[in-house]
Amino acid sequence: MPGQRAWVLITGASRGIGAATALRCAEAGWDVAINYMQDSAAAERLASQVQGFGQRALTLQADVADEAQVAAMFARLDAAGGRLGGLVNNAGIVAPQARLQDMTPARWRRLFDVNVIGTLLCCQQAARRMSTARGGAGGSVVNLSSRAAEYGSAGIYVDYAATKGAVDTLTKGLARELISEGIRVNGVRPGIIETDIHGRSGMDAQGAAATLPIQRLGRPEEIAEAVVWLLSDAASYTVGALLDVAGGR
Ligand code: NAD
Repeated sequence: MPGQRAWVLITGASRGIGAATALRCAEAGWDVAINYMQDSAAAERLASQVQGFGQRALTLQADVADEAQVAAMFARLDAAGGRLGGLVNNAGIVAPQARLQDMTPARWRRLFDVNVIGTLLCCQQAARRMSTARGGAGGSVVNLSSRAAEYGSAGIYVDYAATKGAVDTLTKGLARELISEGIRVNGVRPGIIETDIHGRSGMDAQGAAATLPIQRLGRPEEIAEAVVWLLSDAASYTVGALLDVAGGR
């Protein structure tokens, strides 16, 4: 629960881990700004559910990889009034499974634009508003990485894994840079979670999950729980952590 009423902005929140996180944040007392790229109907449905918890909800269309769209999104949040206390960089993409020789530079650029530049752009805008050095009240940022950052996803999508490695490094660096301004930055590294993302990569998620110590897929709600804890004051001494929520992988 945030110390006082505050917004959390969750990117890519219209489905999957982002949607589960939006609902868990609302339950925990956050007002929720729901970023989405295309599915406005899903975002509006989610906003109604957030309001069902007695919290404010705002839907904000933007491609997180686009600097102007991200700036406009934060300006719309400013116009709604209230303090931004949390940011969850959840928006992310994979690409179809491929080996190195079958990948294209265009694919690499889009993966890095969304997963890495999108995270940087949102962190920059959020930090401008949260920083105690700029008159803000501080805040908390959680970046969605992946266990793939560590094992590299050879033969599946090394490029996606590399974007998440970059997210991990950003998380650690920004955590150390921004803590003196009252902003805690942490990361969550999910294992294999039951969402639409696997349909996009073609990965056999069920088969891969069966090889895990826990022998099952994770649920989006199980990631949301970790994100909400890291956002909260209960995690006040947790800075620059990369929390694996991955069934023992
Ligand atoms: P998902 O595909 O269901 O959701 C991703 C969301 O991001 C979608 O709502 C999509 O519209 C949005 N999005 C994509 N590009 C965007 C852009 N440019 N601007 C704004 N929004 C954009 O996937 P998910 O499984 O819920 O993934 C959420 C995050 O968790 C991602 O960062 C993903 O890499 C990470 N993750 C997922 C898993 C898993 O097994 N599902 C594992 C490790 C990490």
